[in-house]
Amino acid sequence: MAVIGIDLGTTNSLACVCQDGRAVLIPNSLGEKLTPSVVSVDENGEICVGAVAKERLVSHPEASAASFKRYMGTDKVFTLAGNPFTPQELSSFVLRQLKEDAERFLGEEVTEAVISVPAYFNDNQRYATKEAGRLAGIHVERLVNEPSAAALTASRISGEEEGSYLVFDFGGGTLDVSVVDYFDNVIEIVAVSGDNRLGGDDFDEVIARSFCAHHQMDYDSLEQQRKATLLRLSEKCKRELTRQDETELVWEAEGKKMPLSNLLLAGLSQNLFDRISNVVETALRDSARSIEEMDEIVLVGGSSKMPVVSLYLQTQLKRKPGMVASPDEVVAMGVGIYAGIKERKQDIKDLVLTDICPFTLGTNVVNYVDDDNPIMSAVIERNSVLPCSKTDWYTNACDNQTKIVVGIYQGEAFYCNDNLRLGAIEMDIKPVKKGQTRLRVCFTYDINGILEVEVTDCTNPGQEQTKRKVLTSENLRLSEEEIERRLEELRAYKLMPCGGIRTKMVMARGERLFSQTLGARRQQVTIMMQKIQQAVASRNDQLIARCLKEAEEVFDRLEE
Ligand code: ADP
Ligand code: MG
Repeated sequence: MAVIGIDLGTTNSLACVCQDGRAVLIPNSLGEKLTPSVVSVDENGEICVGAVAKERLVSHPEASAASFKRYMGTDKVFTLAGNPFTPQELSSFVLRQLKEDAERFLGEEVTEAVISVPAYFNDNQRYATKEAGRLAGIHVERLVNEPSAAALTASRISGEEEGSYLVFDFGGGTLDVSVVDYFDNVIEIVAVSGDNRLGGDDFDEVIARSFCAHHQMDYDSLEQQRKATLLRLSEKCKRELTRQDETELVWEAEGKKMPLSNLLLAGLSQNLFDRISNVVETALRDSARSIEEMDEIVLVGGSSKMPVVSLYLQTQLKRKPGMVASPDEVVAMGVGIYAGIKERKQDIKDLVLTDICPFTLGTNVVNYVDDDNPIMSAVIERNSVLPCSKTDWYTNACDNQTKIVVGIYQGEAFYCNDNLRLGAIEMDIKPVKKGQTRLRVCFTYDINGILEVEVTDCTNPGQEQTKRKVLTSENLRLSEEEIERRLEELRAYKLMPCGGIRTKMVMARGERLFSQTLGARRQQVTIMMQKIQQAVASRNDQLIARCLKEAEEVFDRLEE
């Protein structure tokens, strides 16, 4: 029985297997190595994962979800067409799909996998990832850190068994930069730094905003579907600039276009580059190393393919970053190699720094401009040495307030809503004038990832009231019975059978195009969709195949 490696990404996921010592990426049923980490529930209550679901994200946003990896290990619930799912359950569908694709590719059952996680994932997030595996019927004995997997790939390809690596992983919505040492079969993550709100999506937005400015439109007031369409067109344009130096963004439905070149894009993205610089500098500073001490700079993640990005790094670091493989495949290949090593019962130790807190922990303070958007007040700062205990004082924001909710958040964003909410403590207080309540908030965080928050109302000396909350990993963990029950329930959700996947893909794309076009072009979409439906009803495989091919050509032309 084969053990596979899985890169469970925020934007895309991949599976890899080690054959004769070589990492082989496993194609999905559409023949692609990357499966978008998107899940959608269709009209029959079937689950679709990947490219089909990504199409449905535009045409059926209420039945689809993406980027759920951001919320692993939290109690956030996603509702898809009325069905509630946790992030680990959505991830389990992606894993189930990858498992099925792998089984078809390998011709044998797959029951075990090694999965990669970001180096900064805490205990809860790691546990949630394992749980996702379990819900997908996969035993996940081991998790591997993404930068370690990338370093492993780089070392295998360069033939250098040992060295220090700067891993620059730039994905769809996250940037992670790590300094990684690989010596004597031990991979050690020396420092990590990141921006979990910076990625390829931001370049799409920069292009979309520039398009709007070019046509005197207001990007922020675009309605949801038009915005989604413009962003999609912008991403396409961005990818073209990886292949060629100049292109044009054409929004045919609106009769508008704009020329774009890598030079122009570089000018528009200055602010993003500054943020990239910050992250790289922080990683190097935290590791107490210089760029000259790095044996290799490893480019990872789809956004590292952008010429403006690699060129910027080259000028900034005065070093040419190495391209060991296609950047979006580097992590998956490393996890595949790990899986192979595991099968042969050898081992490479993978160590993460555990004695520092890799993120900021804090609470909410009122935002006087927008009540629903509280501001993050840091209590324990990122990179604090563990164990660590900090105290801060807070007060009531209005007269005669009777309750204060002390939210507990993790993350670097200015607004609490953009950070992870770990929990909250509700304090009942005596109604007094604004600013007279005295709340003492104490955060204690230890090496095992256990966070204790204690809130004491010290307004009236001698009558202090204390409430405490311990956020251990257990808070978010299900009991054995709960897992069994949920497993049973999830079994009821069937993955879309792979037989009709191409048909579904073309139909989903047709639905999206229908929602994005008008007039004659929309008519063309309708005609193709009807043709396919008739062909499907006839059950004539040759006819179906012909219609699909024709539809793909028509759709390609519409999107040209
Ligand atoms: P993640 O690790 O977040 O799951 P990936 O590493 O797959 O994501 O990166 C996805 C991002 O890479 C997207 O923003 C996508 O637009 C971008 N991307 C992929 N291919 C290219 C390309 N050829 N040129 C520019 N950007 C690309
Ligand atoms: Mg990734």
